[in-house]
Amino acid sequence: MHDVNKSTGPVSTGPDVASGRGRALPISVKSLTKTYGAFNALNNVSIDIRSGEFMTLLGPSGSGKTTLLMVLAGFVRPDSGSVLFGDDEVLLLPPHKRDIGMVFQNYALFPHMTVAENLAYPLKLRSIGKSERQDRVNRALDLVQLGGLGDRGIDALSGGQRQRVALARAVIFEPRILLMDEPLSALDKNLREQMQFEVRALHDRLGITTVYVTHDQREALTMSDRIAVINDGQIQQVDPPQRLYERPKTFFVASFIGETYRLPVDVTNGTASLFGQPIKTGGPLESTALQQALILRPEMLQIADGGPGPDENQMTGTLRQTVFQGDSIVSYISIHGDHEIAVRSQHRSNQTLPVPGSQVRLSWLIQDTVILPEDDQT
Ligand code: ADP
Ligand code: MG
Repeated sequence: MHDVNKSTGPVSTGPDVASGRGRALPISVKSLTKTYGAFNALNNVSIDIRSGEFMTLLGPSGSGKTTLLMVLAGFVRPDSGSVLFGDDEVLLLPPHKRDIGMVFQNYALFPHMTVAENLAYPLKLRSIGKSERQDRVNRALDLVQLGGLGDRGIDALSGGQRQRVALARAVIFEPRILLMDEPLSALDKNLREQMQFEVRALHDRLGITTVYVTHDQREALTMSDRIAVINDGQIQQVDPPQRLYERPKTFFVASFIGETYRLPVDVTNGTASLFGQPIKTGGPLESTALQQALILRPEMLQIADGGPGPDENQMTGTLRQTVFQGDSIVSYISIHGDHEIAVRSQHRSNQTLPVPGSQVRLSWLIQDTVILPEDDQT
């Protein structure tokens, strides 16, 4: 694996301009390939990241997220492809010439220095004078809500505080790009959720182009302008969170984000049928394949009293089981014998639920109808 810890001191010698805003750069990655022996860690990856955007790389462990980030940072040289920061090809530039700030899961702070010394370090490397260093350190401490803690030793800080110091150190020299690799994954759940908002707020205040790596779909949905879903070294889809959730383009994306169930559909002349029943779609199907699958999410389905409304599809099934989960109730329903799907309804105290074994109608909106070709093996 990459040994990035030795090189995490942000050591850009690029121009130092007073304000980060307006200096943010777009990133354009084209046809990146990286192999380790016979293994394809990055397989023809292309992605455009807008100036000032918060872009998240989301994918399972081993999908190539860190490799892609390390190519952007300059710690990994790809076999082929191109990386532009603005108009400049940076592939041949070493990390310290790329004007990037970086944050990792394991802080990479200098343990023998105080908080303020850690923050001043990247400024010293850039020969910034003492009084300006002090000014900037104080501002950076305020920026991450650590005002007054400059004299503390690193080992006297909590995990969340250390990660704030790492963040402050990554941006103190006003880099044009911020790269973060699972920076919150060592924190416990409450702190992680709080820090998600803080990191995003910091991004918004600085207006800096940010590439953030996580394997946590909720974190990605919470923080990002757009998410690039990556699997097996390939980018599957790049979209804003809501679009990604509502319009997954592959089974992998559909199943990695949120809870999904699939039912087989037959397609003839552009019309999809579910066990012989035609279903309406919001637009033409993406694929003409004969065997496709209907993608359903539990909260999109409703147990219906009557026939379908004009904007709905319906199917029937047999209720197997209901599970009370506090804020919601999940009903497991078998469809056409051996297919099972789940329906999530909001809990209401006066609700009467159908009894197990009864026939139920399920409706869902035409606009929520997603059909993907079965031959997509991802
Ligand atoms: P992620 O960050 O998504 O978990 P990585 O980018 O770290 O994934 O790794 C992607 C794949 O490349 C993994 O299968 C990993 O084992 C492999 N890999 C990463 N770095 C190296 C390396 N230096 N040598 C060999 N294989 C590597
Ligand atoms: Mg990784």
